[in-house]
Amino acid sequence: MAGVTDNDAVRPDEAHFRTVMEPFRIHSVEPLRMTTADYRRAKVREAAYNLFQLHADDVLIDLLTDSGTGAMSRDQWAAIQHGDESYAGSPSYFVFRDAVRELFPFEHVIPTHQGRAAERILFQALGGPGKVVPSNTHFDTTRANVEYTGAEALDLVIEEGHDPALVHPFKGNMDVAKLETLLVQRGSDVPCVMMTVTNNSGGGQPVSLENLRAVAEVAHRHGKPLFLDACRFAENAWFIREREPGQGEREVADIVRDMAALADGMTMSAKKDPMGNIGGWLALADDDLAAQCRNLLILTEGFPTYGGLAGRDLEALAQGLREVVSHDYLRYRIRSTAYVADALERLGMPCLKPAGGHAVYVDARALLPHLAPLEFPGQALAVALYELGGIRSCEIGSVMFGRHPDGSQAPAAMELVRLAIPRRTYTQSHMDYVIEVAERVMSVKDDLPGYRIVHEPPQLRHFTARFEPIG
Ligand SMILES: *Cc1c(COP(=O)(O)O)cnc(C)c1O
Repeated sequence: MAGVTDNDAVRPDEAHFRTVMEPFRIHSVEPLRMTTADYRRAKVREAAYNLFQLHADDVLIDLLTDSGTGAMSRDQWAAIQHGDESYAGSPSYFVFRDAVRELFPFEHVIPTHQGRAAERILFQALGGPGKVVPSNTHFDTTRANVEYTGAEALDLVIEEGHDPALVHPFKGNMDVAKLETLLVQRGSDVPCVMMTVTNNSGGGQPVSLENLRAVAEVAHRHGKPLFLDACRFAENAWFIREREPGQGEREVADIVRDMAALADGMTMSAKKDPMGNIGGWLALADDDLAAQCRNLLILTEGFPTYGGLAGRDLEALAQGLREVVSHDYLRYRIRSTAYVADALERLGMPCLKPAGGHAVYVDARALLPHLAPLEFPGQALAVALYELGGIRSCEIGSVMFGRHPDGSQAPAAMELVRLAIPRRTYTQSHMDYVIEVAERVMSVKDDLPGYRIVHEPPQLRHFTARFEPIG
């Protein structure tokens, strides 16, 4: 953070204190509205048991997502005052572009209103019927944007990534042999290779530099560009620093530049690690693809120097990018997530191991074995956390992934409930409350009902589906 220098002398192994102290203090506060369990039971029934349909005033601790929910810093709010709202060629665009390039030195930096707009534009240019786009694990909007063009979205995460209980330092890695086989067998159908860092749908698990290097080598040998879905690049780079041999003394910013150097472009949600409340971008090395994408951008997002954002947003993101690679921040961020995961494990609540960067993922299938996957154990746990404690979490299981483009249903690979931790928003006392609520859920878990869907849209059903409890 501007004016504050990281102190790398404070190593995790020297942290004598149990408290995961937030490396900031509070400058402006937002009140929470206290509610009772009876009130929340009525509200969630009105919302047809879909937590996306609640009024956020009725949520006490909102762990639905870490997307756009972070607290901006003093210096980001100050940067907002520098916003220049010129339609074309705003100086704020160049501040933004240079901050992106400082970490991701791609020739073309194209702002978008959020990550999915970058995905839509990229796959409108590269997708289409008969195509197949491999990733370690596609995020839900990425998958939806690939499939919307008629292409197939293929997940090639390593086997270890499918086992929630297994500890592996880089569970987000791609199975390089499977990628090689795909490119040998269907090379002409593959327009590009994606890598999601960290692997959000696979539990916020990191990808190693070694794996990224191997994936890039295979992709490039077959003449395919590699794109990063880089939403949590800084958390991924911190895990590399902590876990990958030879990386422990390096600057996170340098690790990020190494990741970028292996890729040909990126899609980005600036609502994640760049500490924005809104924003995204598409960055590309290739001139022709960039020209094609800029034309698509103008159709729906805006002129290429603002792409659906205000100049002030671009300034806030540029400052956020400088802050997120701070070692003090990342050490606190990763430790505070692990703090919650460790406490839940101690209560006997099975969590995906190891803890992810931005979220704790509870294994609802293991926790609620009395519910079949299509009785949505993840939904059952998410509703219980809300009713008992006002905590809003997100099902990542058969509700999110159980409906296929042809309308058929099949259980997802895992039934997870994600407790996503917004950046710099909640304190350790909020997390201690979450842990107490989890304890209460543990005492009633065997009696939690399953759910059935009574109404759903054809795509991205988890946002608007209506549920009712079974029995
Ligand atoms: C959030 C996210 C996206 C989509 O970004 P939005 O800004 O929500 O549109 C894409 N990929 C991953 C991995 C994400 O976490």
